[in-house]
Amino acid sequence: MMKPFDHVDANSAARAAALLGEGNQAAPSRPEDRPVRLIAGGTDLLTVMKDDIVSPQTLVNIKTVPDLDRIQFDVATGLHLGPLVSLTDLEHDTLINDRYTALAQAAHLSASPQLRNMATIGGNLLQQSRCWYYRGPFHCWLKGGDECYAREGENKYHAILDQGQCITVNPSDPAQALIAFDATLHILGPSAQRDLKVEQFFINPTPQRRALNQLDDDELITAITLPTPPPDTHSVYLKMMDRQTWGFALVSVAARITWDGDRIARADIIMGGVAPTPYRATIAEQEITGRSRSDLHSGLADRAAHKAMRDAHPLEHNAYKAPLGAALIKRALLAL
Ligand SMILES: Cc1cc2nc3c(=O)[nH]c(=O)nc-3n(C[C@H](O)[C@H](O)[C@H](O)COP(=O)(O)OP(=O)(O)OC[C@H]3O[C@@H](n4cnc5c(N)ncnc54)[C@H](O)[C@@H]3O)c2cc1C
Ligand code: SF4
Repeated sequence: MMKPFDHVDANSAARAAALLGEGNQAAPSRPEDRPVRLIAGGTDLLTVMKDDIVSPQTLVNIKTVPDLDRIQFDVATGLHLGPLVSLTDLEHDTLINDRYTALAQAAHLSASPQLRNMATIGGNLLQQSRCWYYRGPFHCWLKGGDECYAREGENKYHAILDQGQCITVNPSDPAQALIAFDATLHILGPSAQRDLKVEQFFINPTPQRRALNQLDDDELITAITLPTPPPDTHSVYLKMMDRQTWGFALVSVAARITWDGDRIARADIIMGGVAPTPYRATIAEQEITGRSRSDLHSGLADRAAHKAMRDAHPLEHNAYKAPLGAALIKRALLAL
């Protein structure tokens, strides 16, 4: 049952950071124990509060901070997203559909229309693990316990690559697309501001930091920026789910190719659902860079896709993810 809490409206990002700093000073050892937390759309936070996974004493509402829901674009500086931009806005924005297609598609394939109306891009990147042991009444390793129950248990949805002590997968769909577009997070704390690439933001949890990202207790995301893609850049987001809608990714792929005439000048292939962080398929990227369209269609896409999965270590119930990942990469490359 949800415990009582205070609710404070912040009128600026600086005020929100100050409230986080004052309330979380004691630096709790587990991120779950932070006494003060931000609330945006509340679609994830309220769920984990109801399930007693987190029990903050104070919620700081950032929906009262002006302008955090803005989408702005300028060719020189690129795309600027406020952290309160909803997944619905990402999905429908004409410019994002045109220039950052994979991001619009990833938003469209997330959750349900009702949830996308409430869900913000900032909250999406910060959502907690969807591992059912984490969400259930188990004191598993990520929550500060001694054991990862998924490793020998129900691991159908868990990682096949980069497995550490926790084998959960990153649940966000937009994260893969943001990384494919080289996005940067702008982060504010009570006394400092810092920028971090989305690709570096997500981390494999360690014994010293049992968390899925690098955000500190007193920080918030104030913006996400994406450079303007060079001409002749195309992208796609593909996602396999258990059912047609409302499902988290079994496996997903954000692929972006910049063409130089008939040659691939740059390739970004980022996978979801296969590792604790979004997974860059570096081997496949290297395999196709510099090659031509006809190479892709004469077996190269298939070879690159299979090489991308060669380091996979499936668990008892998720061996299906490696061939699924290869199939999605191949399909994405041929689509581009
Ligand atoms: C049934 C269901 C299905 C779903 N399916 C998908 C799916 O297929 N794909 C997918 O990607 N997601 C999916 N989601 C997750 C959903 O997209 C997230 O719950 C949502 O994006 C979170 O955004 P929010 O604004 O509601 O965040 P909140 O719930 O308000 O916050 C989530 C976390 O982010 C923190 N936070 C929020 N904003 C900031 C900020 N600016 N800076 C720092 N911290 C912040 C909060 O403190 C909290 O810890 C699903 C959710 C549900 C309930
Ligand atoms: S995969 Fe991570 S979240 Fe799930 S049981 Fe193991 S330690 Fe906990």
